[in-house]
Amino acid sequence: MGDIILTINAGSSSVKFSAQEIAEGKLTPLASGLIDGIGGKATFSARKSGGEKTHFVLDQTHAAVDHKMALTAVLDWMEDQLPGANVVGVGHRVVHGGPNYAQPVLVTTETFKDLKALEPLAPLHQPYNLAGVEAAIHAFPHAAQVACFDTAFHRKHPFIADTFALPRQYYDEGVRRYGFHGLSYEFIHRILRYEEPVLARGKVIVAHLGNGASLCAINAGRSVASTMGFTALDGLPMGTRCGQLDPGVVLYLMSEKKMSAAEITDLLYKNSGLKGMSGISNDMRDLEASTEQSAKDAIDYFVSRVRREIGGLSAVLGGLDCIVLTGGIGENAVNIRRAILKDMEWFGIQIDEDANARNERVISEKGSPTVALILKTDEERMIAAHTAELLGLKQPIVPAIS
Ligand code: ADP
Repeated sequence: MGDIILTINAGSSSVKFSAQEIAEGKLTPLASGLIDGIGGKATFSARKSGGEKTHFVLDQTHAAVDHKMALTAVLDWMEDQLPGANVVGVGHRVVHGGPNYAQPVLVTTETFKDLKALEPLAPLHQPYNLAGVEAAIHAFPHAAQVACFDTAFHRKHPFIADTFALPRQYYDEGVRRYGFHGLSYEFIHRILRYEEPVLARGKVIVAHLGNGASLCAINAGRSVASTMGFTALDGLPMGTRCGQLDPGVVLYLMSEKKMSAAEITDLLYKNSGLKGMSGISNDMRDLEASTEQSAKDAIDYFVSRVRREIGGLSAVLGGLDCIVLTGGIGENAVNIRRAILKDMEWFGIQIDEDANARNERVISEKGSPTVALILKTDEERMIAAHTAELLGLKQPIVPAIS
């Protein structure tokens, strides 16, 4: 076995990882896994490509498992399952790169300090992403650590797409619409450049519809606007997050309901969106299977907000050549896709119902002025590619894309 790139996506209670081999000009997925329940009794599950799944409780003494123990477990598992694997780079998903990081970056003492200083901008993600970086330095001290940011793809937005209508001082202090899901958008756009080069040069909206959801307007390969803002709360309603909200609601919750910042954070991040509206689940499949009116209302609200934002971003772009649907909902939910794209002939989208029902790659009619596509996103692969590229290994993830 040769050189390996490891990708790490560390959250508050979980670490996702993947191992990809660099060989013969491409990255080949070797294994992926998840350590869940960090902070308590954690479980480890992993699978080699095409192999059996391993699953076990991580610490039999029931001591609280932290990120370091999780990454040490990854190292042990790899030594056992991928003997001879030489981890040359570890690519980390880091949610926030602030106003300055527009590219992935090698983690040094200096950059780590910079990224630490951004923790207040993403308190529910950034501290854990960085705990993952520290743990990986400990477990893989000889590998290069590379931070790949969810915000980086959006850093070339014009000022008006990034600012709020607040006094300028807040923008200067970093209160901006950063936008997120950038690794997914970048991956999708690379695929598009490879498979549909003409469309990729045009006006494109990518709809990343998963547990987290946002839309991105891309013009000639450059992100020009996104529905997510200062935090990953804004824009579309999501599994448990509220999406766009009048800030007056927050003022009301504070002044009239006497809710604390922590209580409001909990409400808006964890108990709103599909889960909050339906009172049933954050999972779109559960809502589709339900006969409750509240489930139908949550779906209808989700769909109507996606449609509204497609309209808004198309206006920003001045037209629309292609719309790509991705993420768990975008890739799989036939009825939700149909509801989002129906009655848009006036707008240039003519959906092919049969192609949509079969989850085909192209789901618009031949000759539809706007082409609608389903493409599978892969943020891990994007991180691995960035890491390889930053190490000068010139092994692009997406075949034949420079
Ligand atoms: P994450 O943002 O956590 O990566 P995913 O991209 O995996 O999330 O998307 C999860 C969402 O996709 C869930 O709401 C799930 O219900 C939805 N989903 C996955 N498969 C289907 C399906 N076949 N039909 C409807 N929804 C689906």
